[in-house]
Amino acid sequence: MSGERVLVVEDDAGSAAVVSMVCKDEGCEATIVASVAEALRVLPEISPSTLILDLSLPDGDGVEVLHEVGNHHPQTRVILVSGFDQRVLGTARQLAEAIGLEVIADLSKPVPLDLLRGALAGALARERVVTAQDLADAIAADELTVAYQPKINLKAPGFAAAPAVEALVRWRHPHYGNVPPGRMIALASESGQMHALTWAVIRTVFRQMRIWREAGANPAVSINLGAEVLDDRRLPDEVSALADEHGIDPEKLSFEITESSATAHSALVLEIATRFRLRGISLSIDDFGTGWSSLRQLYVLPFNELKIDISFVAEMRRREDARMLVKATIDLAHNLGMTVCAEGVEDFETLSLLNEMGCDAAQGYFISRPVSPRRLRTLAYGWQNPFAA
Ligand code: C2E
Ligand code: MG
Ligand code: MG
Repeated sequence: MSGERVLVVEDDAGSAAVVSMVCKDEGCEATIVASVAEALRVLPEISPSTLILDLSLPDGDGVEVLHEVGNHHPQTRVILVSGFDQRVLGTARQLAEAIGLEVIADLSKPVPLDLLRGALAGALARERVVTAQDLADAIAADELTVAYQPKINLKAPGFAAAPAVEALVRWRHPHYGNVPPGRMIALASESGQMHALTWAVIRTVFRQMRIWREAGANPAVSINLGAEVLDDRRLPDEVSALADEHGIDPEKLSFEITESSATAHSALVLEIATRFRLRGISLSIDDFGTGWSSLRQLYVLPFNELKIDISFVAEMRRREDARMLVKATIDLAHNLGMTVCAEGVEDFETLSLLNEMGCDAAQGYFISRPVSPRRLRTLAYGWQNPFAA
C-alpha cells in the first residue's frame, strides 16, 4: 500500500462508492466523509496528500474545506467534482489555485470513470520522492521560483505605501508538482546544495527587484539564509557586488537568519552579520523563540529586526501565557533597539492584540499569503492599516 492519504468529501453515496473503488484499484485506501463539518474534523488527523472534493455538500460548500486545506495542508493536491456546469468548476479551480493549492482536475458529474482514474493516477504519480539530482537539475534549469509575502507596517499611517515583502522559495516539479519548501530545504541541506539554492533565490530576487524598481515600485525585500551558508566570510561582499550590478539600494535589502543558525558557529556568524550591516543591509532574527539564543547573543549580534515565531502568534487568542511571551519579546526587542515583526497572523483579533502591544510589523495569511510577483501588486497596495489614526 502506498503512503497516499486520500480524503474524499462526497455526500452522494453512489459517487462515493465509485471513487472508493477507483482508489482501491490505484493501490490506496480512501477516507470518505459526507459533510463540511466531518471534513474539517478529520483533516488534522489525515493531512491528505490528495483531496477529492464535491463542491456542494449538505451543510455548506466546498470552499470552506479548500480554505482549511490551504491554510494547514498546502501540499495537498485537489480534484474538484461538481454537479454544476463547467463555469462554476472553473471559478472554483481559480479560487483553489489562488489559495495556493494545486488542482489536478475539475470534473463534472456524473464523473466519467476513465477521467477520474486518470486524475487520481496523475495525483499519485506525483507522490514519488524528489531526489537530490532532481533539485540539482531544477537549480541548473532555473526552475525554482520565488513567492513574496507582504509584511505590513503597523506604525504606518493609512496605506502601507512602500511595502516590504519576504522572499520564499518555490519549486514546482514538472511531474511531481509542488515540493514543500521544508522538504526542499532539507534535501538541499543533506546534499550540500544550500549555497546553490540560496544563490538561485538571491539572483531571482535581485532580478525581480530591478523589474519592480523600473516599474516605479520599490519594496524592501528580505531573503532567508540557512545556517549552512553562514560559513563563508565572503558572502556579504559577494551579495553586495551582485546588488550593485542590479542597482539595488542596500537599504531595501535584509536577510533573515533563524535563531538556531545564529547560535551555531557564533564567531563567524558575528563577522558575517557585521559585514552585512557595514554594507547597509539589514538583518532579522527569524523564528525567534524556537532556538536557544542567550540574551547576550541577541545583544551582541547586530540585528535590526526580530521576528516572533508563528507558534507563539498562533496561540495568542487562546492562551494568556502566549500573549505574555509575545509582549515580553516585543519589549525586549524594543529595549535592544530592534523592531519586531510577528509571523503567522491568521485573524484580525491577533493583529489587534499585536497592535495594542506595540508590535511594529506583521505577516500572515490574514494579510496575504505568499504570492507570485504578478499578484503582489494589488495585494500589497490594497492593504489599509485599520489602526492608523
Ligand atoms: P520562515 O522564513 O519562517 O517563513 C514563514 C513560513 O510561514 C512560510 O512557509 C510562510 O508561507 C508560512 N506562513 C506565513 N504566514 C502564515 C500564516 O498565517 N499561517 C501559517 N500556517 N503559515 C504561514 P514556507 O514558504 O513553507 O517556508 C518555510 C520555511 O522554509 C521558511 O520559514 C524558511 O525558514 C524556509 N525557507 C523558505 N524559503 C527559503 C529560502 O529561499 N532559503 C532558505 N534558506 N530558507 C527558506
Ligand atoms: Mg523567514
Ligand atoms: Mg519564521
